[in-house]
Amino acid sequence: MTQYVFRFGGGVAEGKAGDRNLLGGKGANLAEMGSIGLPVPPGFTLSTEMCTRFYEEGERFPDSLRDEVAGGIAHIEQVTGKTFGDPSDPLLVSVRSGARVSMPGMMDTVLNLGLNDETVQGLAAASGDPRFAWDSYRRFIQMYSDVVLGLDHGAFEEALEIAKEDKGVHLDTDLEAADWERLTAQYKALVLEGLGRPFPDDPHDQLWGAIAAVFGSWNGDRAKTYRRLHNIPHDWGTAVNVQAMVFGNRGDSSATGVAFTRDPSTGERCYYGEYLINAQGEDVVAGIRTPQYLTRAAREKAGAKAASMEEALPEVYGQLAEVFETLERHYRDMQDIEFTVERGKLWMLQTRTGKRTAKAALRIAVDMAQEGLISEKEAILRIDPLQLDQLLHPTLDPAAERDVVAKGLPASPGAACGKAVFDADTAVQRAAAGEDIILVRVETSPEDIHGMHAARGILTARGGMTSHAAVVARGMGRPCVSGAGSLSIDYKARRMRVGGRDIAEGEVITLDGSTGEVMVGEVPTVQPELVGDFGTLMVWADAQRRLKVRANAETPKDCATAREFGAEGVGLCRTEHMFFDPDRITNVRQMILAQDEGGRRSALEKLLPAQRGDFEAIFRIMSGLPVTIRLLDPPLHEFLPHAEEEFAEVARASGADVETLRRRAAELAEANPMLGHRGCRLGITYPEIYEMQARAIFEAAIAVARDGGEPPIPEVMVPLVATRAELVIIRSLIERVAAEVFREQGRSLNYLVGTMIELPRAALAAGAIAEGDQGAEFFSFGTNDLTQTTLGISRDDAGRFIGPYVEKGIFARDPFVSLDTEGVGELIRIAAERGRAARPGLKLGICGEHGGDPASIAFCERTRLDYVSASPYRVPIARLAAAQAALREG
Ligand code: PEP
Ligand code: MG
Repeated sequence: MTQYVFRFGGGVAEGKAGDRNLLGGKGANLAEMGSIGLPVPPGFTLSTEMCTRFYEEGERFPDSLRDEVAGGIAHIEQVTGKTFGDPSDPLLVSVRSGARVSMPGMMDTVLNLGLNDETVQGLAAASGDPRFAWDSYRRFIQMYSDVVLGLDHGAFEEALEIAKEDKGVHLDTDLEAADWERLTAQYKALVLEGLGRPFPDDPHDQLWGAIAAVFGSWNGDRAKTYRRLHNIPHDWGTAVNVQAMVFGNRGDSSATGVAFTRDPSTGERCYYGEYLINAQGEDVVAGIRTPQYLTRAAREKAGAKAASMEEALPEVYGQLAEVFETLERHYRDMQDIEFTVERGKLWMLQTRTGKRTAKAALRIAVDMAQEGLISEKEAILRIDPLQLDQLLHPTLDPAAERDVVAKGLPASPGAACGKAVFDADTAVQRAAAGEDIILVRVETSPEDIHGMHAARGILTARGGMTSHAAVVARGMGRPCVSGAGSLSIDYKARRMRVGGRDIAEGEVITLDGSTGEVMVGEVPTVQPELVGDFGTLMVWADAQRRLKVRANAETPKDCATAREFGAEGVGLCRTEHMFFDPDRITNVRQMILAQDEGGRRSALEKLLPAQRGDFEAIFRIMSGLPVTIRLLDPPLHEFLPHAEEEFAEVARASGADVETLRRRAAELAEANPMLGHRGCRLGITYPEIYEMQARAIFEAAIAVARDGGEPPIPEVMVPLVATRAELVIIRSLIERVAAEVFREQGRSLNYLVGTMIELPRAALAAGAIAEGDQGAEFFSFGTNDLTQTTLGISRDDAGRFIGPYVEKGIFARDPFVSLDTEGVGELIRIAAERGRAARPGLKLGICGEHGGDPASIAFCERTRLDYVSASPYRVPIARLAAAQAALREG
């Protein structure tokens, strides 16, 4: 027969910490604390399996459970020496939920269960404190009526307020035994009136009602919403803990409190917490009274007067400090604890791994490894790589108030604050005048780049996680909130309407690119620190990882940032992004709009020196490291001119007239540019473009090599290849130009030619594409496009429906953020296998946005890729994630 009830306390422990799936976090840790000799009030846990069965059987309990629960109660009675329902000295219990993972405040709790008109007298007599007994009784009726009987608690609170008013007092503590007794009678009358039947007097009926209610609260709206938001499966169920009550409200030698074994915001090794004398647990959380500090040092630092626990209850504090040490040694992690002191005796009510900030997480992991409590490997695994984001960008001061008016996608992390501006040129002007700017656009395009660069942050009304705004902002390390659909922008009037407010140009707003929140007014930020614990942990991580980490970067500044963050080369230099500069984009447009090869060549001649100069700078910064340069891949719609002025500029540069240019632009407009004339298709039809780029690459590389130092290792990458034939044509073009340049310059250097894998056909034909002298020497998986082309979901339009798809569980996560390992991943596996079979030693990397996503990096480790490439600010995250993947997969 399945065991559903697990006893703990009084030297018995039927469960242990590892049983959290069965006993819930709270139940498992209570059993564990009991088993290591800590003072835990005796009790029992009804397992999560019981919860599942309860729902399977139409919210009823199997008959066999009666005996098991009776056995549990008998255990508590035996340990405490009290009897449930005994009118002379009754046993009282608490009934609490406890799921596998903590869901704070989402489910129900009942305290002081077992009281009725008879047992309250026994409690009064046994405790010698009638006030305490009647106060406990009325608390019980109030909680039980709310949680189990489903009565509105407003009426109860109102009765309490009236009682205080009648007596002319403000605080609950000013009410006496007789007041509580009267109030109890009123509460019971409220129950009779609201329910049509009396409050249950029999403690056993009370217990079964409470157990059913706590199991029932698993499917309450609050809990369901919480699970959806935190990706907690609905079928896990909760456990229920029934435990002997201990009372922190029995006079001045009693107290209740919460504590962390280390500071959860800084990680400092000091006890951190709050307590209240003569109070029940709920009073600390409810904020009715102001809690006092645990330690004297904390009290003095805060300049507070009220005695710390260390000062007020020195003896129990000493015991508590010992318990903290025992718990840390046992769990080998920082603990979050609840305790109660009943008339000088310490009781532990809960322990769990404490939540902490990124800064604290690093400090605690590094300290614990240095203290010898955990190994360096464990320290590496303790840090959530995504949490490092908090440290890499300025973040909002957690203590500051936030006036949130909209929520979009957390497209690029970090916080930014500045004046709202609705066009790029104004952003540049105002930034040049020293103002902090937030660029707000419906969506961004290449002509906004200068404004994006000048801005502190970017906000768009449309676009997903891989929209232009998102990708460019992440690359630049600018905080960005994209797809904030509730924004309504009026460019003409230079204002926007959001959350019922009008915001004009120049008004200050704040963005949190890590949460997607948009706030009105200035919210103060705090600056990152990348030294100390952060540096130590990174050294440890680097020693463990197998995957190399490169950066997606195209400007010298981004390359320098990436190298500082530990990038081991450039994995993707998007050459079309190098033309976003206002004076260069005109030349690119001239090239695109040219009528013939001659027109294109004249535009290309103007682009060559700029391109060569950029490559030189990048090669210098990345000296000795591989630099993957991707030949031009401009989705045309991102580059065609739109505005009158833009056409005029191209006309000036090319000598063509505006009308001709307009006609040409109309001819070039594509129905589906993402699948149109882009990538190597451009190089096949207009070889002179790739010729110019190849020349710029090799001339720059030779120039840097000539200066001495370690020569650069160019890796020339061909985008959007579908067939071997495409690659063969482009590769021979590159080799021809390389040979020309080497001949002209009188020296040569090593380089590779490879391809991106962005199309399902390329993945399937990987063997042919990699094979032989004319095949690809490396593959880089362009998983942005590969996701788009495998799923048939447009990168630019996904934002409109991916949210609901994730909410409905169709995708576990946005596939443009975290690799769809089943579909896209399968193509990567196939390509890796076929490519390596055709060319042993084929170098494999990933350069889509997934290269910075820890779950996707774990996939790359499993697939034995050689490197991942991520935007500069993601490099440290990728280094840590790669180390974790190696430790877990290796
Ligand atoms: C990709 O498609 O994954 C990629 C890296 O290229 P881009 O994002 O520039 O299309
Ligand atoms: Mg691509």
